[in-house]
Order: sequence, then structure tokens, then C-alpha cells
Amino acid sequence: MSKRDYYEVLGVGRESGGDEIKRAYRKLAMKYHPDRNPGDSEAEAKFKEAAEAYEVLGDEQKRKRYDQYGHAGVEGMGHAGRGFSSMEDIFQSFGDIFGGGGGSIFESFFGGGGGRAAANAGSSLKIGLELSFREAVFGATKTIDLRRHEICDTCHGSGAKPGTQPTTCHTCGGAGVVRQGRGFFVVQTTCPTCNGRGTIISDPCTSCHGEGLVAKKTQIKVPIPAGVEDGSRLRVSGEGEPSREGGPRGDLYVYISVKADDMFERHGDDVVCKVPVGYAQASLGVELEVPTLEGKAKLKIAPGTQPGEILRMRGLGVPNGYGRRGDQLVVVNVRVPKKPSGRYGELLRELAEIESSTIEEDNKGFFDRLKSLFE
Ligand SMILES: [Zn+2]
Ligand SMILES: [Zn+2]
Repeated sequence: MSKRDYYEVLGVGRESGGDEIKRAYRKLAMKYHPDRNPGDSEAEAKFKEAAEAYEVLGDEQKRKRYDQYGHAGVEGMGHAGRGFSSMEDIFQSFGDIFGGGGGSIFESFFGGGGGRAAANAGSSLKIGLELSFREAVFGATKTIDLRRHEICDTCHGSGAKPGTQPTTCHTCGGAGVVRQGRGFFVVQTTCPTCNGRGTIISDPCTSCHGEGLVAKKTQIKVPIPAGVEDGSRLRVSGEGEPSREGGPRGDLYVYISVKADDMFERHGDDVVCKVPVGYAQASLGVELEVPTLEGKAKLKIAPGTQPGEILRMRGLGVPNGYGRRGDQLVVVNVRVPKKPSGRYGELLRELAEIESSTIEEDNKGFFDRLKSLFE
């Protein structure tokens, strides 16, 4: 794709002075600023393109080279040619141009951008929640004890004693920001007197000490969806801190941990459980009662089932949220008796005698290979 002419990008003539170029860039940067065009990739591309053009035309030396040789003349200088990789990149590069301080100055230069909109909502809260294995599988409604703030009932969040009013801040005249002229630019920063609030409380509310908020213990019910996984995060919208500026409450983030179960282990949507099976049972086949997440169920072990074989019980696993469930996988754990005694031992010893004569027949191949190893 051929690059657009930098003068064309900024919409200025080739004879334009430095101030005019700055002004043109500022206009474009404000128009296409990411905070004003969230999620708009075209605006983002325009924002980057303008920054690149300004980086060259705003610099006397680079501009000279560009005038003489075009894009090729400034290739590899700064960001020209390869472009800015990110917004952060632009903020960092141009913080200096706007009078130092990096991104924050740049942002306040643009009037706070997205930061201000976010400040209107209350801040978010985080809390950890431990679930039992089954609660995580089937979902639950959990009651959570929460310590958070509420708008002060006495002053309704103003922070001023009832009957009094917060007064307008003298430093900023209620704007919450102060402006300082720097060359062509006006740099805007949060007012240091009122911390951006725009008002001063001379007679603070005694219930909240002027904060406008009071800490309160509260309980909320949180619905836990079925199939939630260990280490996942749930967002409960509107259950975070309140906003003093009349915005919505922030969100509550619930960090889930799931207790291990002594019977079941989770593998994605499947649950795995080991079931002990007698040596003779595995050989002859048997119907066993096995545990499932919802109680006992019958499972047929086919004759000749081998140790470690996995049997699938369909639809007895974890609900996956799409109206389907995973499976239960039963690992056949063949029990080998440690000290067989009594009748059981007698039979086993008898069995061992028979085995020593038949095993060679059954596993001829194996013993042949074993022999060949030592020849
Ligand atoms: Zn109060
Ligand atoms: Zn102020």
C-alpha cells in the first residue's frame, strides 16, 4: 500500500509554518483520539497516521529530508516508515512535544479522555470465594459477606454537614482542572486544591468525616453458574463501590477457587474417578455400584477388563453451559491383595500353581523375547 503524503495527511500546504502544522495535528489527534473513538480501528489508524506525519513535519530536519526525498528520505528515522506500533508508543513519543511528562500530560491535554468517563462509575471490588467440588459442577447461589461503602445517608454523598453546602473551589472555579499555557498549547491538570472535585467542604459531615461515603457490611447473593472452573473470575455488575458523582456502582469481581474432592477429579467437562475392582471380578466380569456426582449408579465391568482401563459413563460429567454434559470416566483400579489369608489365600495359591503352567502358554511371545535378550 502506498503511503499518503504527510502534508495531505495533516491537510496543510507545503509552505505551512510550524505552528500551522502543530495546529493541524492537534485537531486531527483530538478528532481521532482513541478515548473518543473506542473500538474504532479506522480512527485508530488515522490517529497513528497523523502522529507519524507530525513526527516528520513537526521536526525541521526531518521535514527538510522529506521535502527533498519523500518517504524514502525519512525511512528508518523515528517511527516513519514502520509506523507507531501502539497508542502507548505515541503518548510516549509526544509527551515531550507537549511539554514533558509523557502520557499523562498528553491525556490531560485531550481533556482526560476515557479516564473521566470511568471516574463516574464507582470503583470495582475483588473478593475470593471457595466452592465445593459439587457446587462448582452444578452451580449454586452463594451468600457473600462484603465490606464496601455506601453513600452517606446524612449528607447524601456531598460530604458537607446538613444545612451547609460545599463551596466552589477558588483555585479552579469549580472546573476541577487547572489550565496552564505552554507555548501554543494549554496543558490541563487536576486541580491540586480540590483534587478535581470542583468543590471545597468547609464544614464536613460528621457521619462520614466529609468523605461522602461510609463503610458498611453487607451481604449479597451471587449466582454461580454450573461448570465454573477453579481459578476463574466472575463479574457481578453493579455490586462494587458506589459513585459519589452519581454514576453507577462499580463491579464486583469474584475469584473462584474449587476445593478438591476425594472421589472425583475434573478434566475439562469430564470427571474422573478410580474404582477398586477385585482381581477375579475384573477377570470374570461383574456389575458394580460406583459413585457418581449425583449418587450411586450401576456399572458393568466386562470379563477380562484390564487394570487402568477407562470406562465411560456418558452424560454424568460437568454441565458445559450449552445444555450438554461431559462424561464420567471410571478408571479400573484392580486390587492386588497384600496379605491374602484364609480361604482367599488358599485359592490364590492354588491359582498361582495353575498360573505358572498356563502363563507361558498365554504369553509365549513375551517369554520368547525375554529369552532372546540373554542369548
Ligand atoms: Zn456524610
Ligand atoms: Zn479546585
